[in-house]
Amino acid sequence: MDRRALKFPFTLDSAPDWMCPTCGKAPLRIRKDSFVKEERSFSRDHSHEAWEPEWIEYVYSCMLVCSNDQCKEVVASTGTGSVDWDVEEDENGIPQQVYDDHFRPKFFQPHLRIFQVPEGCPESVSKPLEDSFALFFSAPHAASNNVRIAIEALLTELKIRRFVSSNGKRRFISLHQRIALLPSKYAHLKDLILAIKWLGNAGSHDGGTEVSLDDVMDSYELTEHILQEVYAPKLEKLHKLAKKVNKKKGPAK
Ligand SMILES: [Zn+2]
Repeated sequence: MDRRALKFPFTLDSAPDWMCPTCGKAPLRIRKDSFVKEERSFSRDHSHEAWEPEWIEYVYSCMLVCSNDQCKEVVASTGTGSVDWDVEEDENGIPQQVYDDHFRPKFFQPHLRIFQVPEGCPESVSKPLEDSFALFFSAPHAASNNVRIAIEALLTELKIRRFVSSNGKRRFISLHQRIALLPSKYAHLKDLILAIKWLGNAGSHDGGTEVSLDDVMDSYELTEHILQEVYAPKLEKLHKLAKKVNKKKGPAK
């Protein structure tokens, strides 16, 4: 996960390598002829005596194209922009203040796949993750909430019950209690799932701490590892391979 590419604003000349969501093999490139920016209505009046370029606020839209010639997927993006300054040396080595436009993406359509969900992962888990990816740039708290939904669904897929019945009444079990019910096979994942619960809690309660893109990326990294362990365990595959080789006392194929 390239946190810098996902987190920081970009300039038109130094857009990050957002990975193509369709082939997953090559970065998207902004088609510069499609890039349009306009100042917001409140930002257009520059007559105030204290006006500074930092007061400018843009909206932008553009098309991106996958740089893999076999794919050439197109992705649309919109977002916001502002003007920020940096210090650069001129030809005489004298530091100069230079202004540049910086943009923050809010949407990509189709949305970026921020991490690779393993193929064997059931849709009940992958769908809320897809929803989360779609919301990542525009609403981190909602993106975080969807990771929590995916984790609840994962526990259901792992046959952890969702409620208990007593006196003919159903009572839902909290996520915290469900995590404790995981069988010993998944004991090593309990802490990781618990951490996602805490990160998701911040995203789902009003008045709670504001969720940052870094918080969401933390829960993505934890989720990616958990899904790998559950649906594409490397160690298990290696054990199977070793078993085959040992049985044949030579190459497996
Ligand atoms: Zn592509």
